[in-house]
Amino acid sequence: MFDKILIANRGEIALRVIRACSEMGIASVAVHSTADSDAMHVRMADESICIGPPPPSASYLSMPAILSACEITGAQAIHPGYGFLSENAQFVQMVEDHGLTFIGPRAEHIRMMGDKITAKETAKALGIPVVPGSQGGVPDIETARRVSAEMGFPVIIKATAGGGGRGMKVAADEAALEVAFRTARAEAKAAFGNDEVYIEKYLQRPRHIEIQVFGDGRGNAVHLGERDCSLQRRHQKVLEEAPGPVITPEQRDRIGRICADAVARLQYAGAGTIEFLFEDGEFYFIEMNTRLQVEHPVTEAIYGVDLVREQIRVAAGEPMSLRQDQLSIRGHAIEARINAERLPNFAPSPGRISQYHAPGGLGVRMDSALYDGYVIPPYYDSLIAKLIVHGRDRTEALARLNRALNELIVDGVDTTIPLFVDLLKEPDIQRGDYSIHWLERWLEREYGG
Ligand code: ADP
Repeated sequence: MFDKILIANRGEIALRVIRACSEMGIASVAVHSTADSDAMHVRMADESICIGPPPPSASYLSMPAILSACEITGAQAIHPGYGFLSENAQFVQMVEDHGLTFIGPRAEHIRMMGDKITAKETAKALGIPVVPGSQGGVPDIETARRVSAEMGFPVIIKATAGGGGRGMKVAADEAALEVAFRTARAEAKAAFGNDEVYIEKYLQRPRHIEIQVFGDGRGNAVHLGERDCSLQRRHQKVLEEAPGPVITPEQRDRIGRICADAVARLQYAGAGTIEFLFEDGEFYFIEMNTRLQVEHPVTEAIYGVDLVREQIRVAAGEPMSLRQDQLSIRGHAIEARINAERLPNFAPSPGRISQYHAPGGLGVRMDSALYDGYVIPPYYDSLIAKLIVHGRDRTEALARLNRALNELIVDGVDTTIPLFVDLLKEPDIQRGDYSIHWLERWLEREYGG
């Protein structure tokens, strides 16, 4: 096992990894930008080291700075968290070239899934059902017209190099196709430096269902069921729950088995998430994330496992402690992603936290790097806390979330806490009756956009 792990991240996810290290008797090293000198992850780690100025490109994304930090502190392995360098194959290669261990999958698997066309082709070859769409990239408007006509409108044009919901455009009909195609390409070029796009059938009322998988890198793999992440704003997840309110045990077993078999055949190492759209009882692959997800705690809650501990074990060459026949679901879990943002426009709201009080009690987990007097810097993601509740069933989980939100105090900045309080009053949410479009329509109605 490692003696010392460096965490190449910040905020709540850095704390999450530091906590796992601490429980495993492993020393932790925090890295931070000059804007984060007083951050909680710096305070909580055994050691810390400054790696550069505030902009992520000069600090949390700086590969030489992070590798130097490993050398100086003697860390043997790097946990990337999510975002930043977590899905950067070049970084994985560099880490290995320096004789260090990357806590995550191999570079080849990150590369394979990072390119969405390759990912889809790989998924198909492994027997995973995919969304109907173009065969690979669509180079010009003529091809776009032909492919769309064959498939039938509406269609969605997506960037091959896409991520974070950017570079996607929906075309309702033939007339809208050309503008959508050009805009998607321009956006893809601007955001990813690559203007290749592909086309998919646009599903009208799907849910976003993702399967948590875990592999040991030697051909063994398990699945840990699904998470329903349909409540999204601008393709960004807002609230997640597990198990999915509309997934039957048979559907879970079937898709879970397909996913576990696929990652076993790839000899995939560590945590991964296979994302699907789900409509009329059918699953359609959209992408695979080769890292720990923001919403992993809902899975941890219902399966009673520590995914980060498992990641560290597998990276150190120890056997995976998860066995499919020992994995079973207990109760229901929900996560609310709380952002420092001003409603109704969701404008970032950085600044000083004048008062912070975290909720507690049975079945409540608060993953947050906030503290009294902390100043949220304006340079990074606006996620400030993940409130995760676990109950015997969905009704209890919903009541617990409501109770915990009422206990939670975050003063000094605007937050999305009131959004969740309002959401929980909605009959559709109480019934679990929502698709990926539900939240945006509701926001338009309630908050006027
Ligand atoms: P990204 O990597 O940018 O997050 P994804 O491919 O994961 O992109 O898609 C993000 C979201 O966009 C999905 O959760 C869903 O809400 C929507 N979406 C993507 N593909 C389709 C599709 N074919 N039909 C309908 N909605 C889609």
